[in-house]
Order: sequence, then C-alpha cells, then structure tokens
Amino acid sequence: MTTSAETHLHPTNPNNGEAFSPVRCTALAEIPACVQRARQAQPHWQALSLRQRSRFLHRFSQEVARSAERIAECLCQTQGKSPFDAYGEIFTVLELCQYYQRVAGRVLKARWAFPLSGLHRSHRLVYEPYGVVGVIAPWNYPFNLSLQPVLAALIAGNSVVLKPSEHTPHIGAEIAHLFAQAGFPRDVLTLVQGDGSVGQALIAAGIDKLVFTGSVAVGRQVARLAGEQLLPLTLELGGKDVAIVLADADLQRAAQGIAWAANVNAGQACLAVEQVYVEAAVADACLHALRQAYANLRVGDSTDPTADITAITTPAQLAKIQALVEDAVLCGARLVCGGQAVRSAGRFFQPTILTDVPESARIWREEIFGPVVVVQRVADAAEAVARTNASPFGLTASIWTRNRAQGRALAAQLQVGDVAIIEHGAPAGHAEIAWGGRKASGFGKTRGKEGLLEMVVQKHLSWDWFDRPREAHWFPNAKRDAKFLLRVIGWLFGR
Ligand code: NAD
Repeated sequence: MTTSAETHLHPTNPNNGEAFSPVRCTALAEIPACVQRARQAQPHWQALSLRQRSRFLHRFSQEVARSAERIAECLCQTQGKSPFDAYGEIFTVLELCQYYQRVAGRVLKARWAFPLSGLHRSHRLVYEPYGVVGVIAPWNYPFNLSLQPVLAALIAGNSVVLKPSEHTPHIGAEIAHLFAQAGFPRDVLTLVQGDGSVGQALIAAGIDKLVFTGSVAVGRQVARLAGEQLLPLTLELGGKDVAIVLADADLQRAAQGIAWAANVNAGQACLAVEQVYVEAAVADACLHALRQAYANLRVGDSTDPTADITAITTPAQLAKIQALVEDAVLCGARLVCGGQAVRSAGRFFQPTILTDVPESARIWREEIFGPVVVVQRVADAAEAVARTNASPFGLTASIWTRNRAQGRALAAQLQVGDVAIIEHGAPAGHAEIAWGGRKASGFGKTRGKEGLLEMVVQKHLSWDWFDRPREAHWFPNAKRDAKFLLRVIGWLFGR
C-alpha cells in the first residue's frame, strides 16, 4: 500500500513561529475511495434544480458571513495576512456566492441552435457538469482561491474533492466545516489533506476535471500528469507582474499604488508588482517618490491592524526571498531600501527596492513572491511593452499615465490576462470579472461567467421532425448529389 511521505502536517504560525496542532494527512491509499464517494454523491446533487443548489450556496454564504471573525482569525494566524486582507478574502467569496446564485441560471441555460443546413431538425445545446472536480489550492489566499473554483463547480452540479495547501491545512478544515454547517449533502465536498504527493494521487484517482492554482514548476508537472489522462485542466500559475510608469504619470499616485501592489500580503500575491519599468525622463523622480512611499510602510504581525507588511508564510519562502535579493546584489544591483529579513521570532522581510539589476541576476527570471520590487529605467513606452512581452509570465500589468487613451493603446499590446490603468490588480477582483493568465501564468479562467463555463461540458441534442425514408447525405452517393452541393456552395458563399 502506498502511503503519503508525511502522516501529519506541522505548520507553524508565521507571526511568531509557534507550532499549531498537527493535521493528519490523507493516506494516498484512501484517495481513490474519496473520489469514489464524491462520484456516488454527484448524481443526486446534479439532480437537484439549480434553484435548490443556489439555496445551499445561500446557506453557505450565510454561514461564512456569520463566521467571518473566526475565519479571518484563522487566516491571520495560519497565513500571516493582515485582518483587512483576511476580510477581503471573505468578501470576495461572499460576492462570488451571490453572483453565481444570480447568474448561474442564465449562464447555464440550454439554448436552441438554427444551423442553416439543419433547419428540418431541432438542435438543443445543453450544459452538463463534468462529474467530480478536483481543486488543488495554494497557501497565499487559501480561503478565496480554494472556494472560487469550488463554488463554480458546485453550482454547476459537480461534486468536488479539495486539496488545500499543506501550509494552510487549517483553512481547508474550516472550509469543510462551513459546508457541513450549511447542511450540504454528504460527500458533495470532500477534503483531502497533505502535500504534493496527495495532489498527485488526486490527479491519478479518476477525477473528471482539475483546477490547479500554484507555481509554474508544479503546474508543469500537473499538466504532464493530466495530459497523460487527457484530463480537462484549468491552470492558474505564477506571475511576475509589471508596472509601467510613463513620463506623464502622476508620480505620487504611481508610487503609492506600486507600494501597495508590490507589498500586499507581503508580496505573496500572484498579482504583486515585481518589476517597474519607468521612462528614463522621470526615472529619478519616480525612484524618489517610491522611496518616500516606502518610508511610511510598517512591518508588523497580524495582531496589528495598522501593519502594512505582514508575515512571510513559510520558512522556505523567506529563505527564497533572501536568496534572490542577495544574488541580485552580488550581481551588482543597487539596493535602494530594505534587503533584509527582520530579526523576530516570526517571519518578516523588509519592503525592498532594487534598481540597476543586471540581466544575469536570477530575480529577472524567477518569481519572488515577497515584498521586493525591481525598478528599471527604459527609453520609452515601446521598450517597456517589449520587455513585458519578453517575459515568460503573463498574468497582470498596470500602466501609469495621465493619458487614458495612450494607456488603453499600450494595454492592447500587452500579452497578459489583466491590465489596469493607474491602478494595479485590485480592479480585477470582482466576482463577475473572469481571472486568468497567459503564457507560463496558465490558461483557463476562474470567477465570472467564464469560470462557471469551465465547470461544464456542452452537449448537443438533435431530433428530426420529418419521417422521410432517407436523408440527402446518406448512402448511396449519387453523382448529382455532389453537383447539387457544389451549386449550393457557389450560390450561398461564392457571390
Ligand atoms: P505550489 O505549486 O508549491 O503548490 C500549490 C498546490 O499544489 C499545493 O496544494 C501543493 O501541495 C500542490 N502540489 C505540489 N506538488 C504537486 C504535484 N506534484 N502534484 C499535484 N499537486 C502538487 O504553489 P504555492 O507555493 O502553494 O503557491 C504559490 C504559487 O501559486 C505562486 O507561484 C503564485 O504566483 C501562484 N498563484 C497563482 C495564482 C493565480 O491566480 N494565477 C493565485 C495564487 C497563487
């Protein structure tokens, strides 16, 4: 019998290093049975009307709203985020719940089709759930990023097996508890706990669709495993997000906006700005404004509601941030501010600005996922666009300019999933705006109508209204049939 490499998870509190109670891993041998139970529960769940499933979602959202303080406390303690960010995650989930209750009926409604050469038939296009959807989630927004695909899958009539990150298993347990409290039928949502080996076992256990959110490296492994089984897949992967500051920008606003976008959740956000391309004419002034904005940032733990830069969730992530900054400095980069881990029982890193970073530094290529930004001067907007598009990543970007028309024109050239003008990231956070990257940042969408459509397959039904002995395209072929079709082609499309 195969077993998980770990029998228990031992996460520690990023704010103070204290150990939480261990969480039992799901044994690898148990996972096929978990998927099997989800499969048995699914037809009953699908058989409910959309209105009935919506009512379950409503009860779930009420449970979340009632438990918001407890959930936020768990997020702060286990992931290390600020209370504001924690309530932001909860708000996003509640907004999505409400949105899907409102629009799912319309989005998933069957429709008629009227193909030109098939008017003697009725054609009906219907949406059906995949069956069992696997959701593998990361640790940085563990509540929201688990629940976005889970809610879409459930309202569409799928059952779900959720594997939260091994670094935030308590949030996974909280989610399962909330579904139980909301009275969801048994096994419609199943939780499996553990590290990547549990994720691999889930992919191999016969699920019908997978939504994976995580790093590019693991995303590639997951895509290989899924590819072998031709398993439908949505991939939300890493980013190395860019802010482009043009010479006419309001530099005070740009500096404040970038200080937020580079450091939200201590930079542990897929949409966090890691690179700033600034037009040479205002490069010094921009750096000065950024330095001033950074001077006001406060590092602090989750118990301090006024702290801006919160904890780094895992020891490995803290070590990675430190290593990338040291490598850049060794390569010749100039440290404008920060650059060090904060001495503390918890895990914190100073908000850091680097500039004049040589191309040889790893920080140009690797996602940092910490409160570190690289500011680089460029000759003009065209160079900023070319550099952004040369990146293997393609998640988000922002353009800082007073000229909205120029901003929109540049946005059209960027190969990313989301572009904001004079803001970064946050405008994309609404329930009805589908989220997803391009290139190495993944494919497919979560949230919005498109996120819902990712959870269903479209089926075509047709029936003929006439009981003729044969259809024109059936055998035997006659010479005149081809001639007739040729004439129709010329008549319909050749004029
Ligand atoms: P990760 O890739 O290390 O892990 C993500 C999940 O995959 C975890 O649950 C993990 O246990 C599981 N896993 C690990 N190895 C696996 C394997 N071989 N097979 C199956 N599952 C496996 O990522 P992370 O460190 O948890 O999260 C941070 C990353 O996620 C960053 O790169 C970040 O940019 C990205 N992210 C992307 C988005 C987005 O929407 N594009 C959102 C949040 C985070």
